[in-house]
Amino acid sequence: MPEPTQVLPEVLGQIRALPVSRRPLIVCDVDEVVLHLIAHLEDYLHARDLMFLKHEYRLTGNIGTRNERRELPAADVRRHLQVFFDEICPRQDLVPGADEALHALARDWDIVLLTNLPGGHNKPVREKRLAEMGMTFPVLTNSGPKGGAVAALAAGRPAPVVFIDDSPTNHSSVHASLPSAMQIQFIADARFRETVDPAGHISLVTGDWQETSAFIGGIVPGARRPEPAD
Ligand SMILES: [Mg+2]
Repeated sequence: MPEPTQVLPEVLGQIRALPVSRRPLIVCDVDEVVLHLIAHLEDYLHARDLMFLKHEYRLTGNIGTRNERRELPAADVRRHLQVFFDEICPRQDLVPGADEALHALARDWDIVLLTNLPGGHNKPVREKRLAEMGMTFPVLTNSGPKGGAVAALAAGRPAPVVFIDDSPTNHSSVHASLPSAMQIQFIADARFRETVDPAGHISLVTGDWQETSAFIGGIVPGARRPEPAD
């Protein structure tokens, strides 16, 4: 179990710039949740005679050559990811139903998109791609585990805050920092979803936005004690 993490100053600045609101809150990841990532990364790897060695939730040690299945060194993986993100961020495809579901949920909930962008990839490119698909919800960029940011976002909101993300690391971090969160592990890619062994703090594992919407529709915000304002 990880320790609660502090929110990074640059993330806190973005949180403080949001309009003040006491509405229920959904904090939603982007990659592999709202926009496809794994499918694009697999195309990128195959074009270079590389592949995922396993459908496991880690990249270093899990990307290798297609012929010999030889693991790529960590530095090479980092370099490829940098090139990949430069190429893909302006044209990532929508996960089907994400736009409709989020717009419908926005009638009762505030939606904040909390995304980790590696290597200084810039927020405007991501915001533009999301806006092209009709999603103009606030976008916050983070780096590292998300618990501190989600706990800061939850201040003054009715519990539970809903957290939607693919990454087990982010879910553990949110559970450590905000145990009252309702946690949905959304993984668009079925192969990676099937290898996940969900932690006890995960309430739903899914790759389907209709199922996600229906699940959130059954939550009554404010039925629990609110998170204290800081
Ligand atoms: Mg993600």
